[in-house]
Amino acid sequence: MSRVAIVTGSSRGIGRAIALRIARDGYDVCINDVASNQSGAEEVAKEIQALGRKATVAIADVSKLAEVEQMVQKAVNDLGPLNTIIANAGIAQVKPLLDLTEQDFENMFRVNVFGVQNCFQAAAKQLIKQGNCTPEAPGKMIACASIVAFKPFALLSHYSSSKWAVRGLTQAYAMEMAEHHITVNAYAPGIVGTAMWDLIDEKLGEKTGAKKGDTIKKYTNELIAQKRTSVPEDVAKLVSFLCGPDSDHVTGQTQVVDGGIIYT
Ligand code: NAD
Repeated sequence: MSRVAIVTGSSRGIGRAIALRIARDGYDVCINDVASNQSGAEEVAKEIQALGRKATVAIADVSKLAEVEQMVQKAVNDLGPLNTIIANAGIAQVKPLLDLTEQDFENMFRVNVFGVQNCFQAAAKQLIKQGNCTPEAPGKMIACASIVAFKPFALLSHYSSSKWAVRGLTQAYAMEMAEHHITVNAYAPGIVGTAMWDLIDEKLGEKTGAKKGDTIKKYTNELIAQKRTSVPEDVAKLVSFLCGPDSDHVTGQTQVVDGGIIYT
């Protein structure tokens, strides 16, 4: 039987790789992103349809609960009862703690933390209302954390603390959702070559004088045991496990996938 998932922030990067991977696993997928990335979202939906699965696009800003609730309704109307949500959307910013404005701090938490809360709350209410989650086929809620949820990176401190909050929220949701037969986990990528790391590389380079591309190379060589930068598909493989039946007895975990930077 087909299953339905929503993946937020899936017009590109890690979210796109997850959407394509779980479509190959048998999911019909709702692609979400902000309006400025609508064309990318539609491209990903077409790629999924070419794999023989159903796909729809729901434009929504995850920091706004009303938009997230509409996204969940659109997914259900277009694809059928929901089984899984992957709260992947996130933003990063490189800035010293003493230079952060209240707005910087608020934006970070609005997207990265409120975004997960909005997605988890709206999805959980939908799953409970549908009554389709059982011990044999639990609902799945999955959030995007990061290795910085275990050890912050300097100059990415508000980003790091937002991901630390995602880890806490994941544990708390796991406790409250167990009675509803919903598992709740998070994935914690390391250094993944996406638009987000292009920005981090450029901004850290401005601080240190490093050329574009040199910071990610340096971090890869100095920090990653396997000595290669992660690709989005490395993360999608873990999320495939967290979305599938083999993880039915796993809940409340934040699983690192980084080639060997952080050892939990
Ligand atoms: P990315 O910037 O390529 O993709 C993020 C996507 O989220 C974008 O398409 C963006 O438009 C979307 N998005 C941002 N704000 C949104 C909002 N308010 N509502 C809906 N969509 C929104 O970056 P990525 O590397 O693919 O990041 C995906 C996730 O992985 C993020 O949560 C990020 O923090 C996390 N992560 C990335 C890395 C890395 O090294 N790239 C490492 C650890 C964690």
